[in-house]
Parts: sequence; structure tokens; C-alpha cells
Amino acid sequence: MNASTVRYGSLRIPLPAQRAIDEAFAYLARDPVVRSVIERLERSRVGHRIAIDHRHDDSYLPWSHTIRWDPTSALRTTDGGRQSPALGLAHELDHAVESERSFDRLQAITITRYDTAEERRVIAGSERHAARTLHESARRDHDGVSYRVAGPTKRYPSTGSG
Ligand SMILES: [Zn+2]
Repeated sequence: MNASTVRYGSLRIPLPAQRAIDEAFAYLARDPVVRSVIERLERSRVGHRIAIDHRHDDSYLPWSHTIRWDPTSALRTTDGGRQSPALGLAHELDHAVESERSFDRLQAITITRYDTAEERRVIAGSERHAARTLHESARRDHDGVSYRVAGPTKRYPSTGSG
């Protein structure tokens, strides 16, 4: 038996990560664009899953329809701004919800600063929209430096002894 999973429609999540994912989803749902991405993913004919990572490796693996997400990895943007782990999850969810044909086509197009047209679609689209709604920093490139925070919606490193 695999570790227990919970299903949100066609989206499978690991039970131990349910609380972190619920917290991220509740926060992200304040933005209508990301809320729509989440709803489309849950209703998708293709089953997706979220796998938890602890090495700052937020990514989407299209061949296995797997979203890898580190719930305590925040991002320092090129401009010196900050993005929460939840916004990083939103970014990967948008890759996942894109049709495979469109994903492959846009990934094959190289774009300055954004690496690919698919990255620009996500960063300049849902990510930027959600950043405004949630008062986080927007990006103008596909870059940034990861750092640790205490939880999915945090943007500042936890301080104190601990
Ligand atoms: Zn991306």
C-alpha cells in the first residue's frame, strides 16, 4: 500500500500534507484566477497528484502529472521581493492544468528572461495576477533564490530560537 492519499476530485494529495495544502488553497482562492486553476485541476479528466518535496524543488513533471511542492520554500525574486510557498504551488498548478499539447508547444519556445514561453504564460499570467491580489511580489523573469519559512503562506524567515 502506498501512503494514504486524499482526493480533491481528480487531484490526489498525500494525507500528511493535507493541512499545508488546504492552507495554501484557502489563501490562493482569494485570487479568482488561481481559484479557477484549482477548480479546473480538480475537475480535470486527467488525474494529477501533488508530491511533497523538502529540497526547494517546486516543479511539474508532465509525464507523471505530478506537481512537486515544498510547503516551506519561499522565493526571493530578482527585484528583491518575496513570494510565499503557496504562490510557488499556484505556479506549478497552472503548468499542470495546461493541455499537454499547449504545454509541449510553449515549452519548446525559448524566451529571454523567462526561459520558455510556457514559463512566461504562467509568470505573467496567473502568478502575477495572484501576486497583486495577495500583496506579494511579482516577477519579470523565471528566476529567484529559495529560502526557508515556517509555513505555506509565510514570506519572512522565522526568527528566534527554534
Ligand atoms: Zn514554471
